[in-house]
Amino acid sequence: MNHSEKFIRSLKVNNIEALRRIPKADLHNHFYLGGNKEYIYKKTGKKIPSLNYKLNSMDEMHSWVNKNIGNVFEGKKGRILALEASFAQAIHDGITILEIGEDIWANGYFYDNNVEELLNVFNSIHNMIAANIDLRLQIGLSRHCKIKDLEEWIEPFWDYDCFYSIDLYGDEMAQPIERFKGIYRKAKEKGLILKAHVGEWGDADSVKRAVSELELDEVQHGISASQSQQVMNWLSDHNIQLNVCPTSNVMLGRVESIAKHPIRKLFDNGIKVTINSDDVLIFNSPVSEEYIKLFQGGVFTATELDIIRLNGLN
Ligand SMILES: [Zn+2]
Repeated sequence: MNHSEKFIRSLKVNNIEALRRIPKADLHNHFYLGGNKEYIYKKTGKKIPSLNYKLNSMDEMHSWVNKNIGNVFEGKKGRILALEASFAQAIHDGITILEIGEDIWANGYFYDNNVEELLNVFNSIHNMIAANIDLRLQIGLSRHCKIKDLEEWIEPFWDYDCFYSIDLYGDEMAQPIERFKGIYRKAKEKGLILKAHVGEWGDADSVKRAVSELELDEVQHGISASQSQQVMNWLSDHNIQLNVCPTSNVMLGRVESIAKHPIRKLFDNGIKVTINSDDVLIFNSPVSEEYIKLFQGGVFTATELDIIRLNGLN
C-alpha cells in the first residue's frame, strides 16, 4: 500500500497510530506553543492541562496560557525547551515538513542580536531531535510592534538565504496591513514565500486586501473568505493557499463546530487548503487528529483529506 492508500484506510478504521506514521506537513505552527506535553513533563515535571472550554478572545487565550503554562518557557533556556518540544511533537505526529521560525524581536532577547546564533540553535535542535524532518525556516513578525522597529530588527535577517517564508501574526486589528508593505516587498525580492495571519477575526475583504497589498502566496487561517463568493473566486483564481487550523477556530469561537467549518466551502470553491495545528499546547489537536475530526465530522471524505494532505506536502 502506498501512503495515500494507507492514509485513507487509517481514517476509515480510525487508526490514529497508523495515521501518525504517514507523511504530513504542518505549515501553520507557532513553535513556542507547539510542543509535546510529554516531552515538557519529562524535562521539567510540569504537567500542562488540556483546554476544555471555548475561549472568546485572544485575551482569554493569553490568560489561559499564563495560568496553565506559566513560566516554563521563560528565558533562553525556556525558548530552547519550547523549540525542542515542538520538534518532538512533530516527530510524534509524523510531520515530515515543518514550517516554523522565530519572532524577529526575539533575536535581540535570546540570541544576542545574532542571526547566526539563532540559526545555530534551530539547526542543532533540528539535527538532535528531528533530523529527518524537512525544516522550513520562517521569519516571524508581530503585528503589535512598530514598523520602524520591525524594519530595524529584520535587517540582519536579509543577509541569510536559508529562510523559506515570512509570516505576520498577533491581533489582526493592531494596525493597517498596508504598513507592512515595505517589509513584504523586500521579502519578495529575497525570494521568500509570503504569508500572513488574516481572516481569522477580520472579514472576507480583509483577506483580499492583505493578499493584494502584501502580495501574499499563502494565508494563515483566511477562513472568513468563505463569507464572500467574490473573494473565494479571487483567491482561487490567484492560486492562494489557506493554511487552516480547524480546532483552533472552534476553540476560539470563530467557528461553531468542526462539522460546520467553512473549510468545506473553501475547498469546494477551488481554494487550495492545508490542515495544521496552530498551537498544540493550547488547542491539543495535532495534525493527525485534525484529519480524524474532519473525517468523523463528515466534513470531508478520506480521499478528499488525502488531497489536502498532499497539498501540504507539495
Ligand atoms: Zn496561528
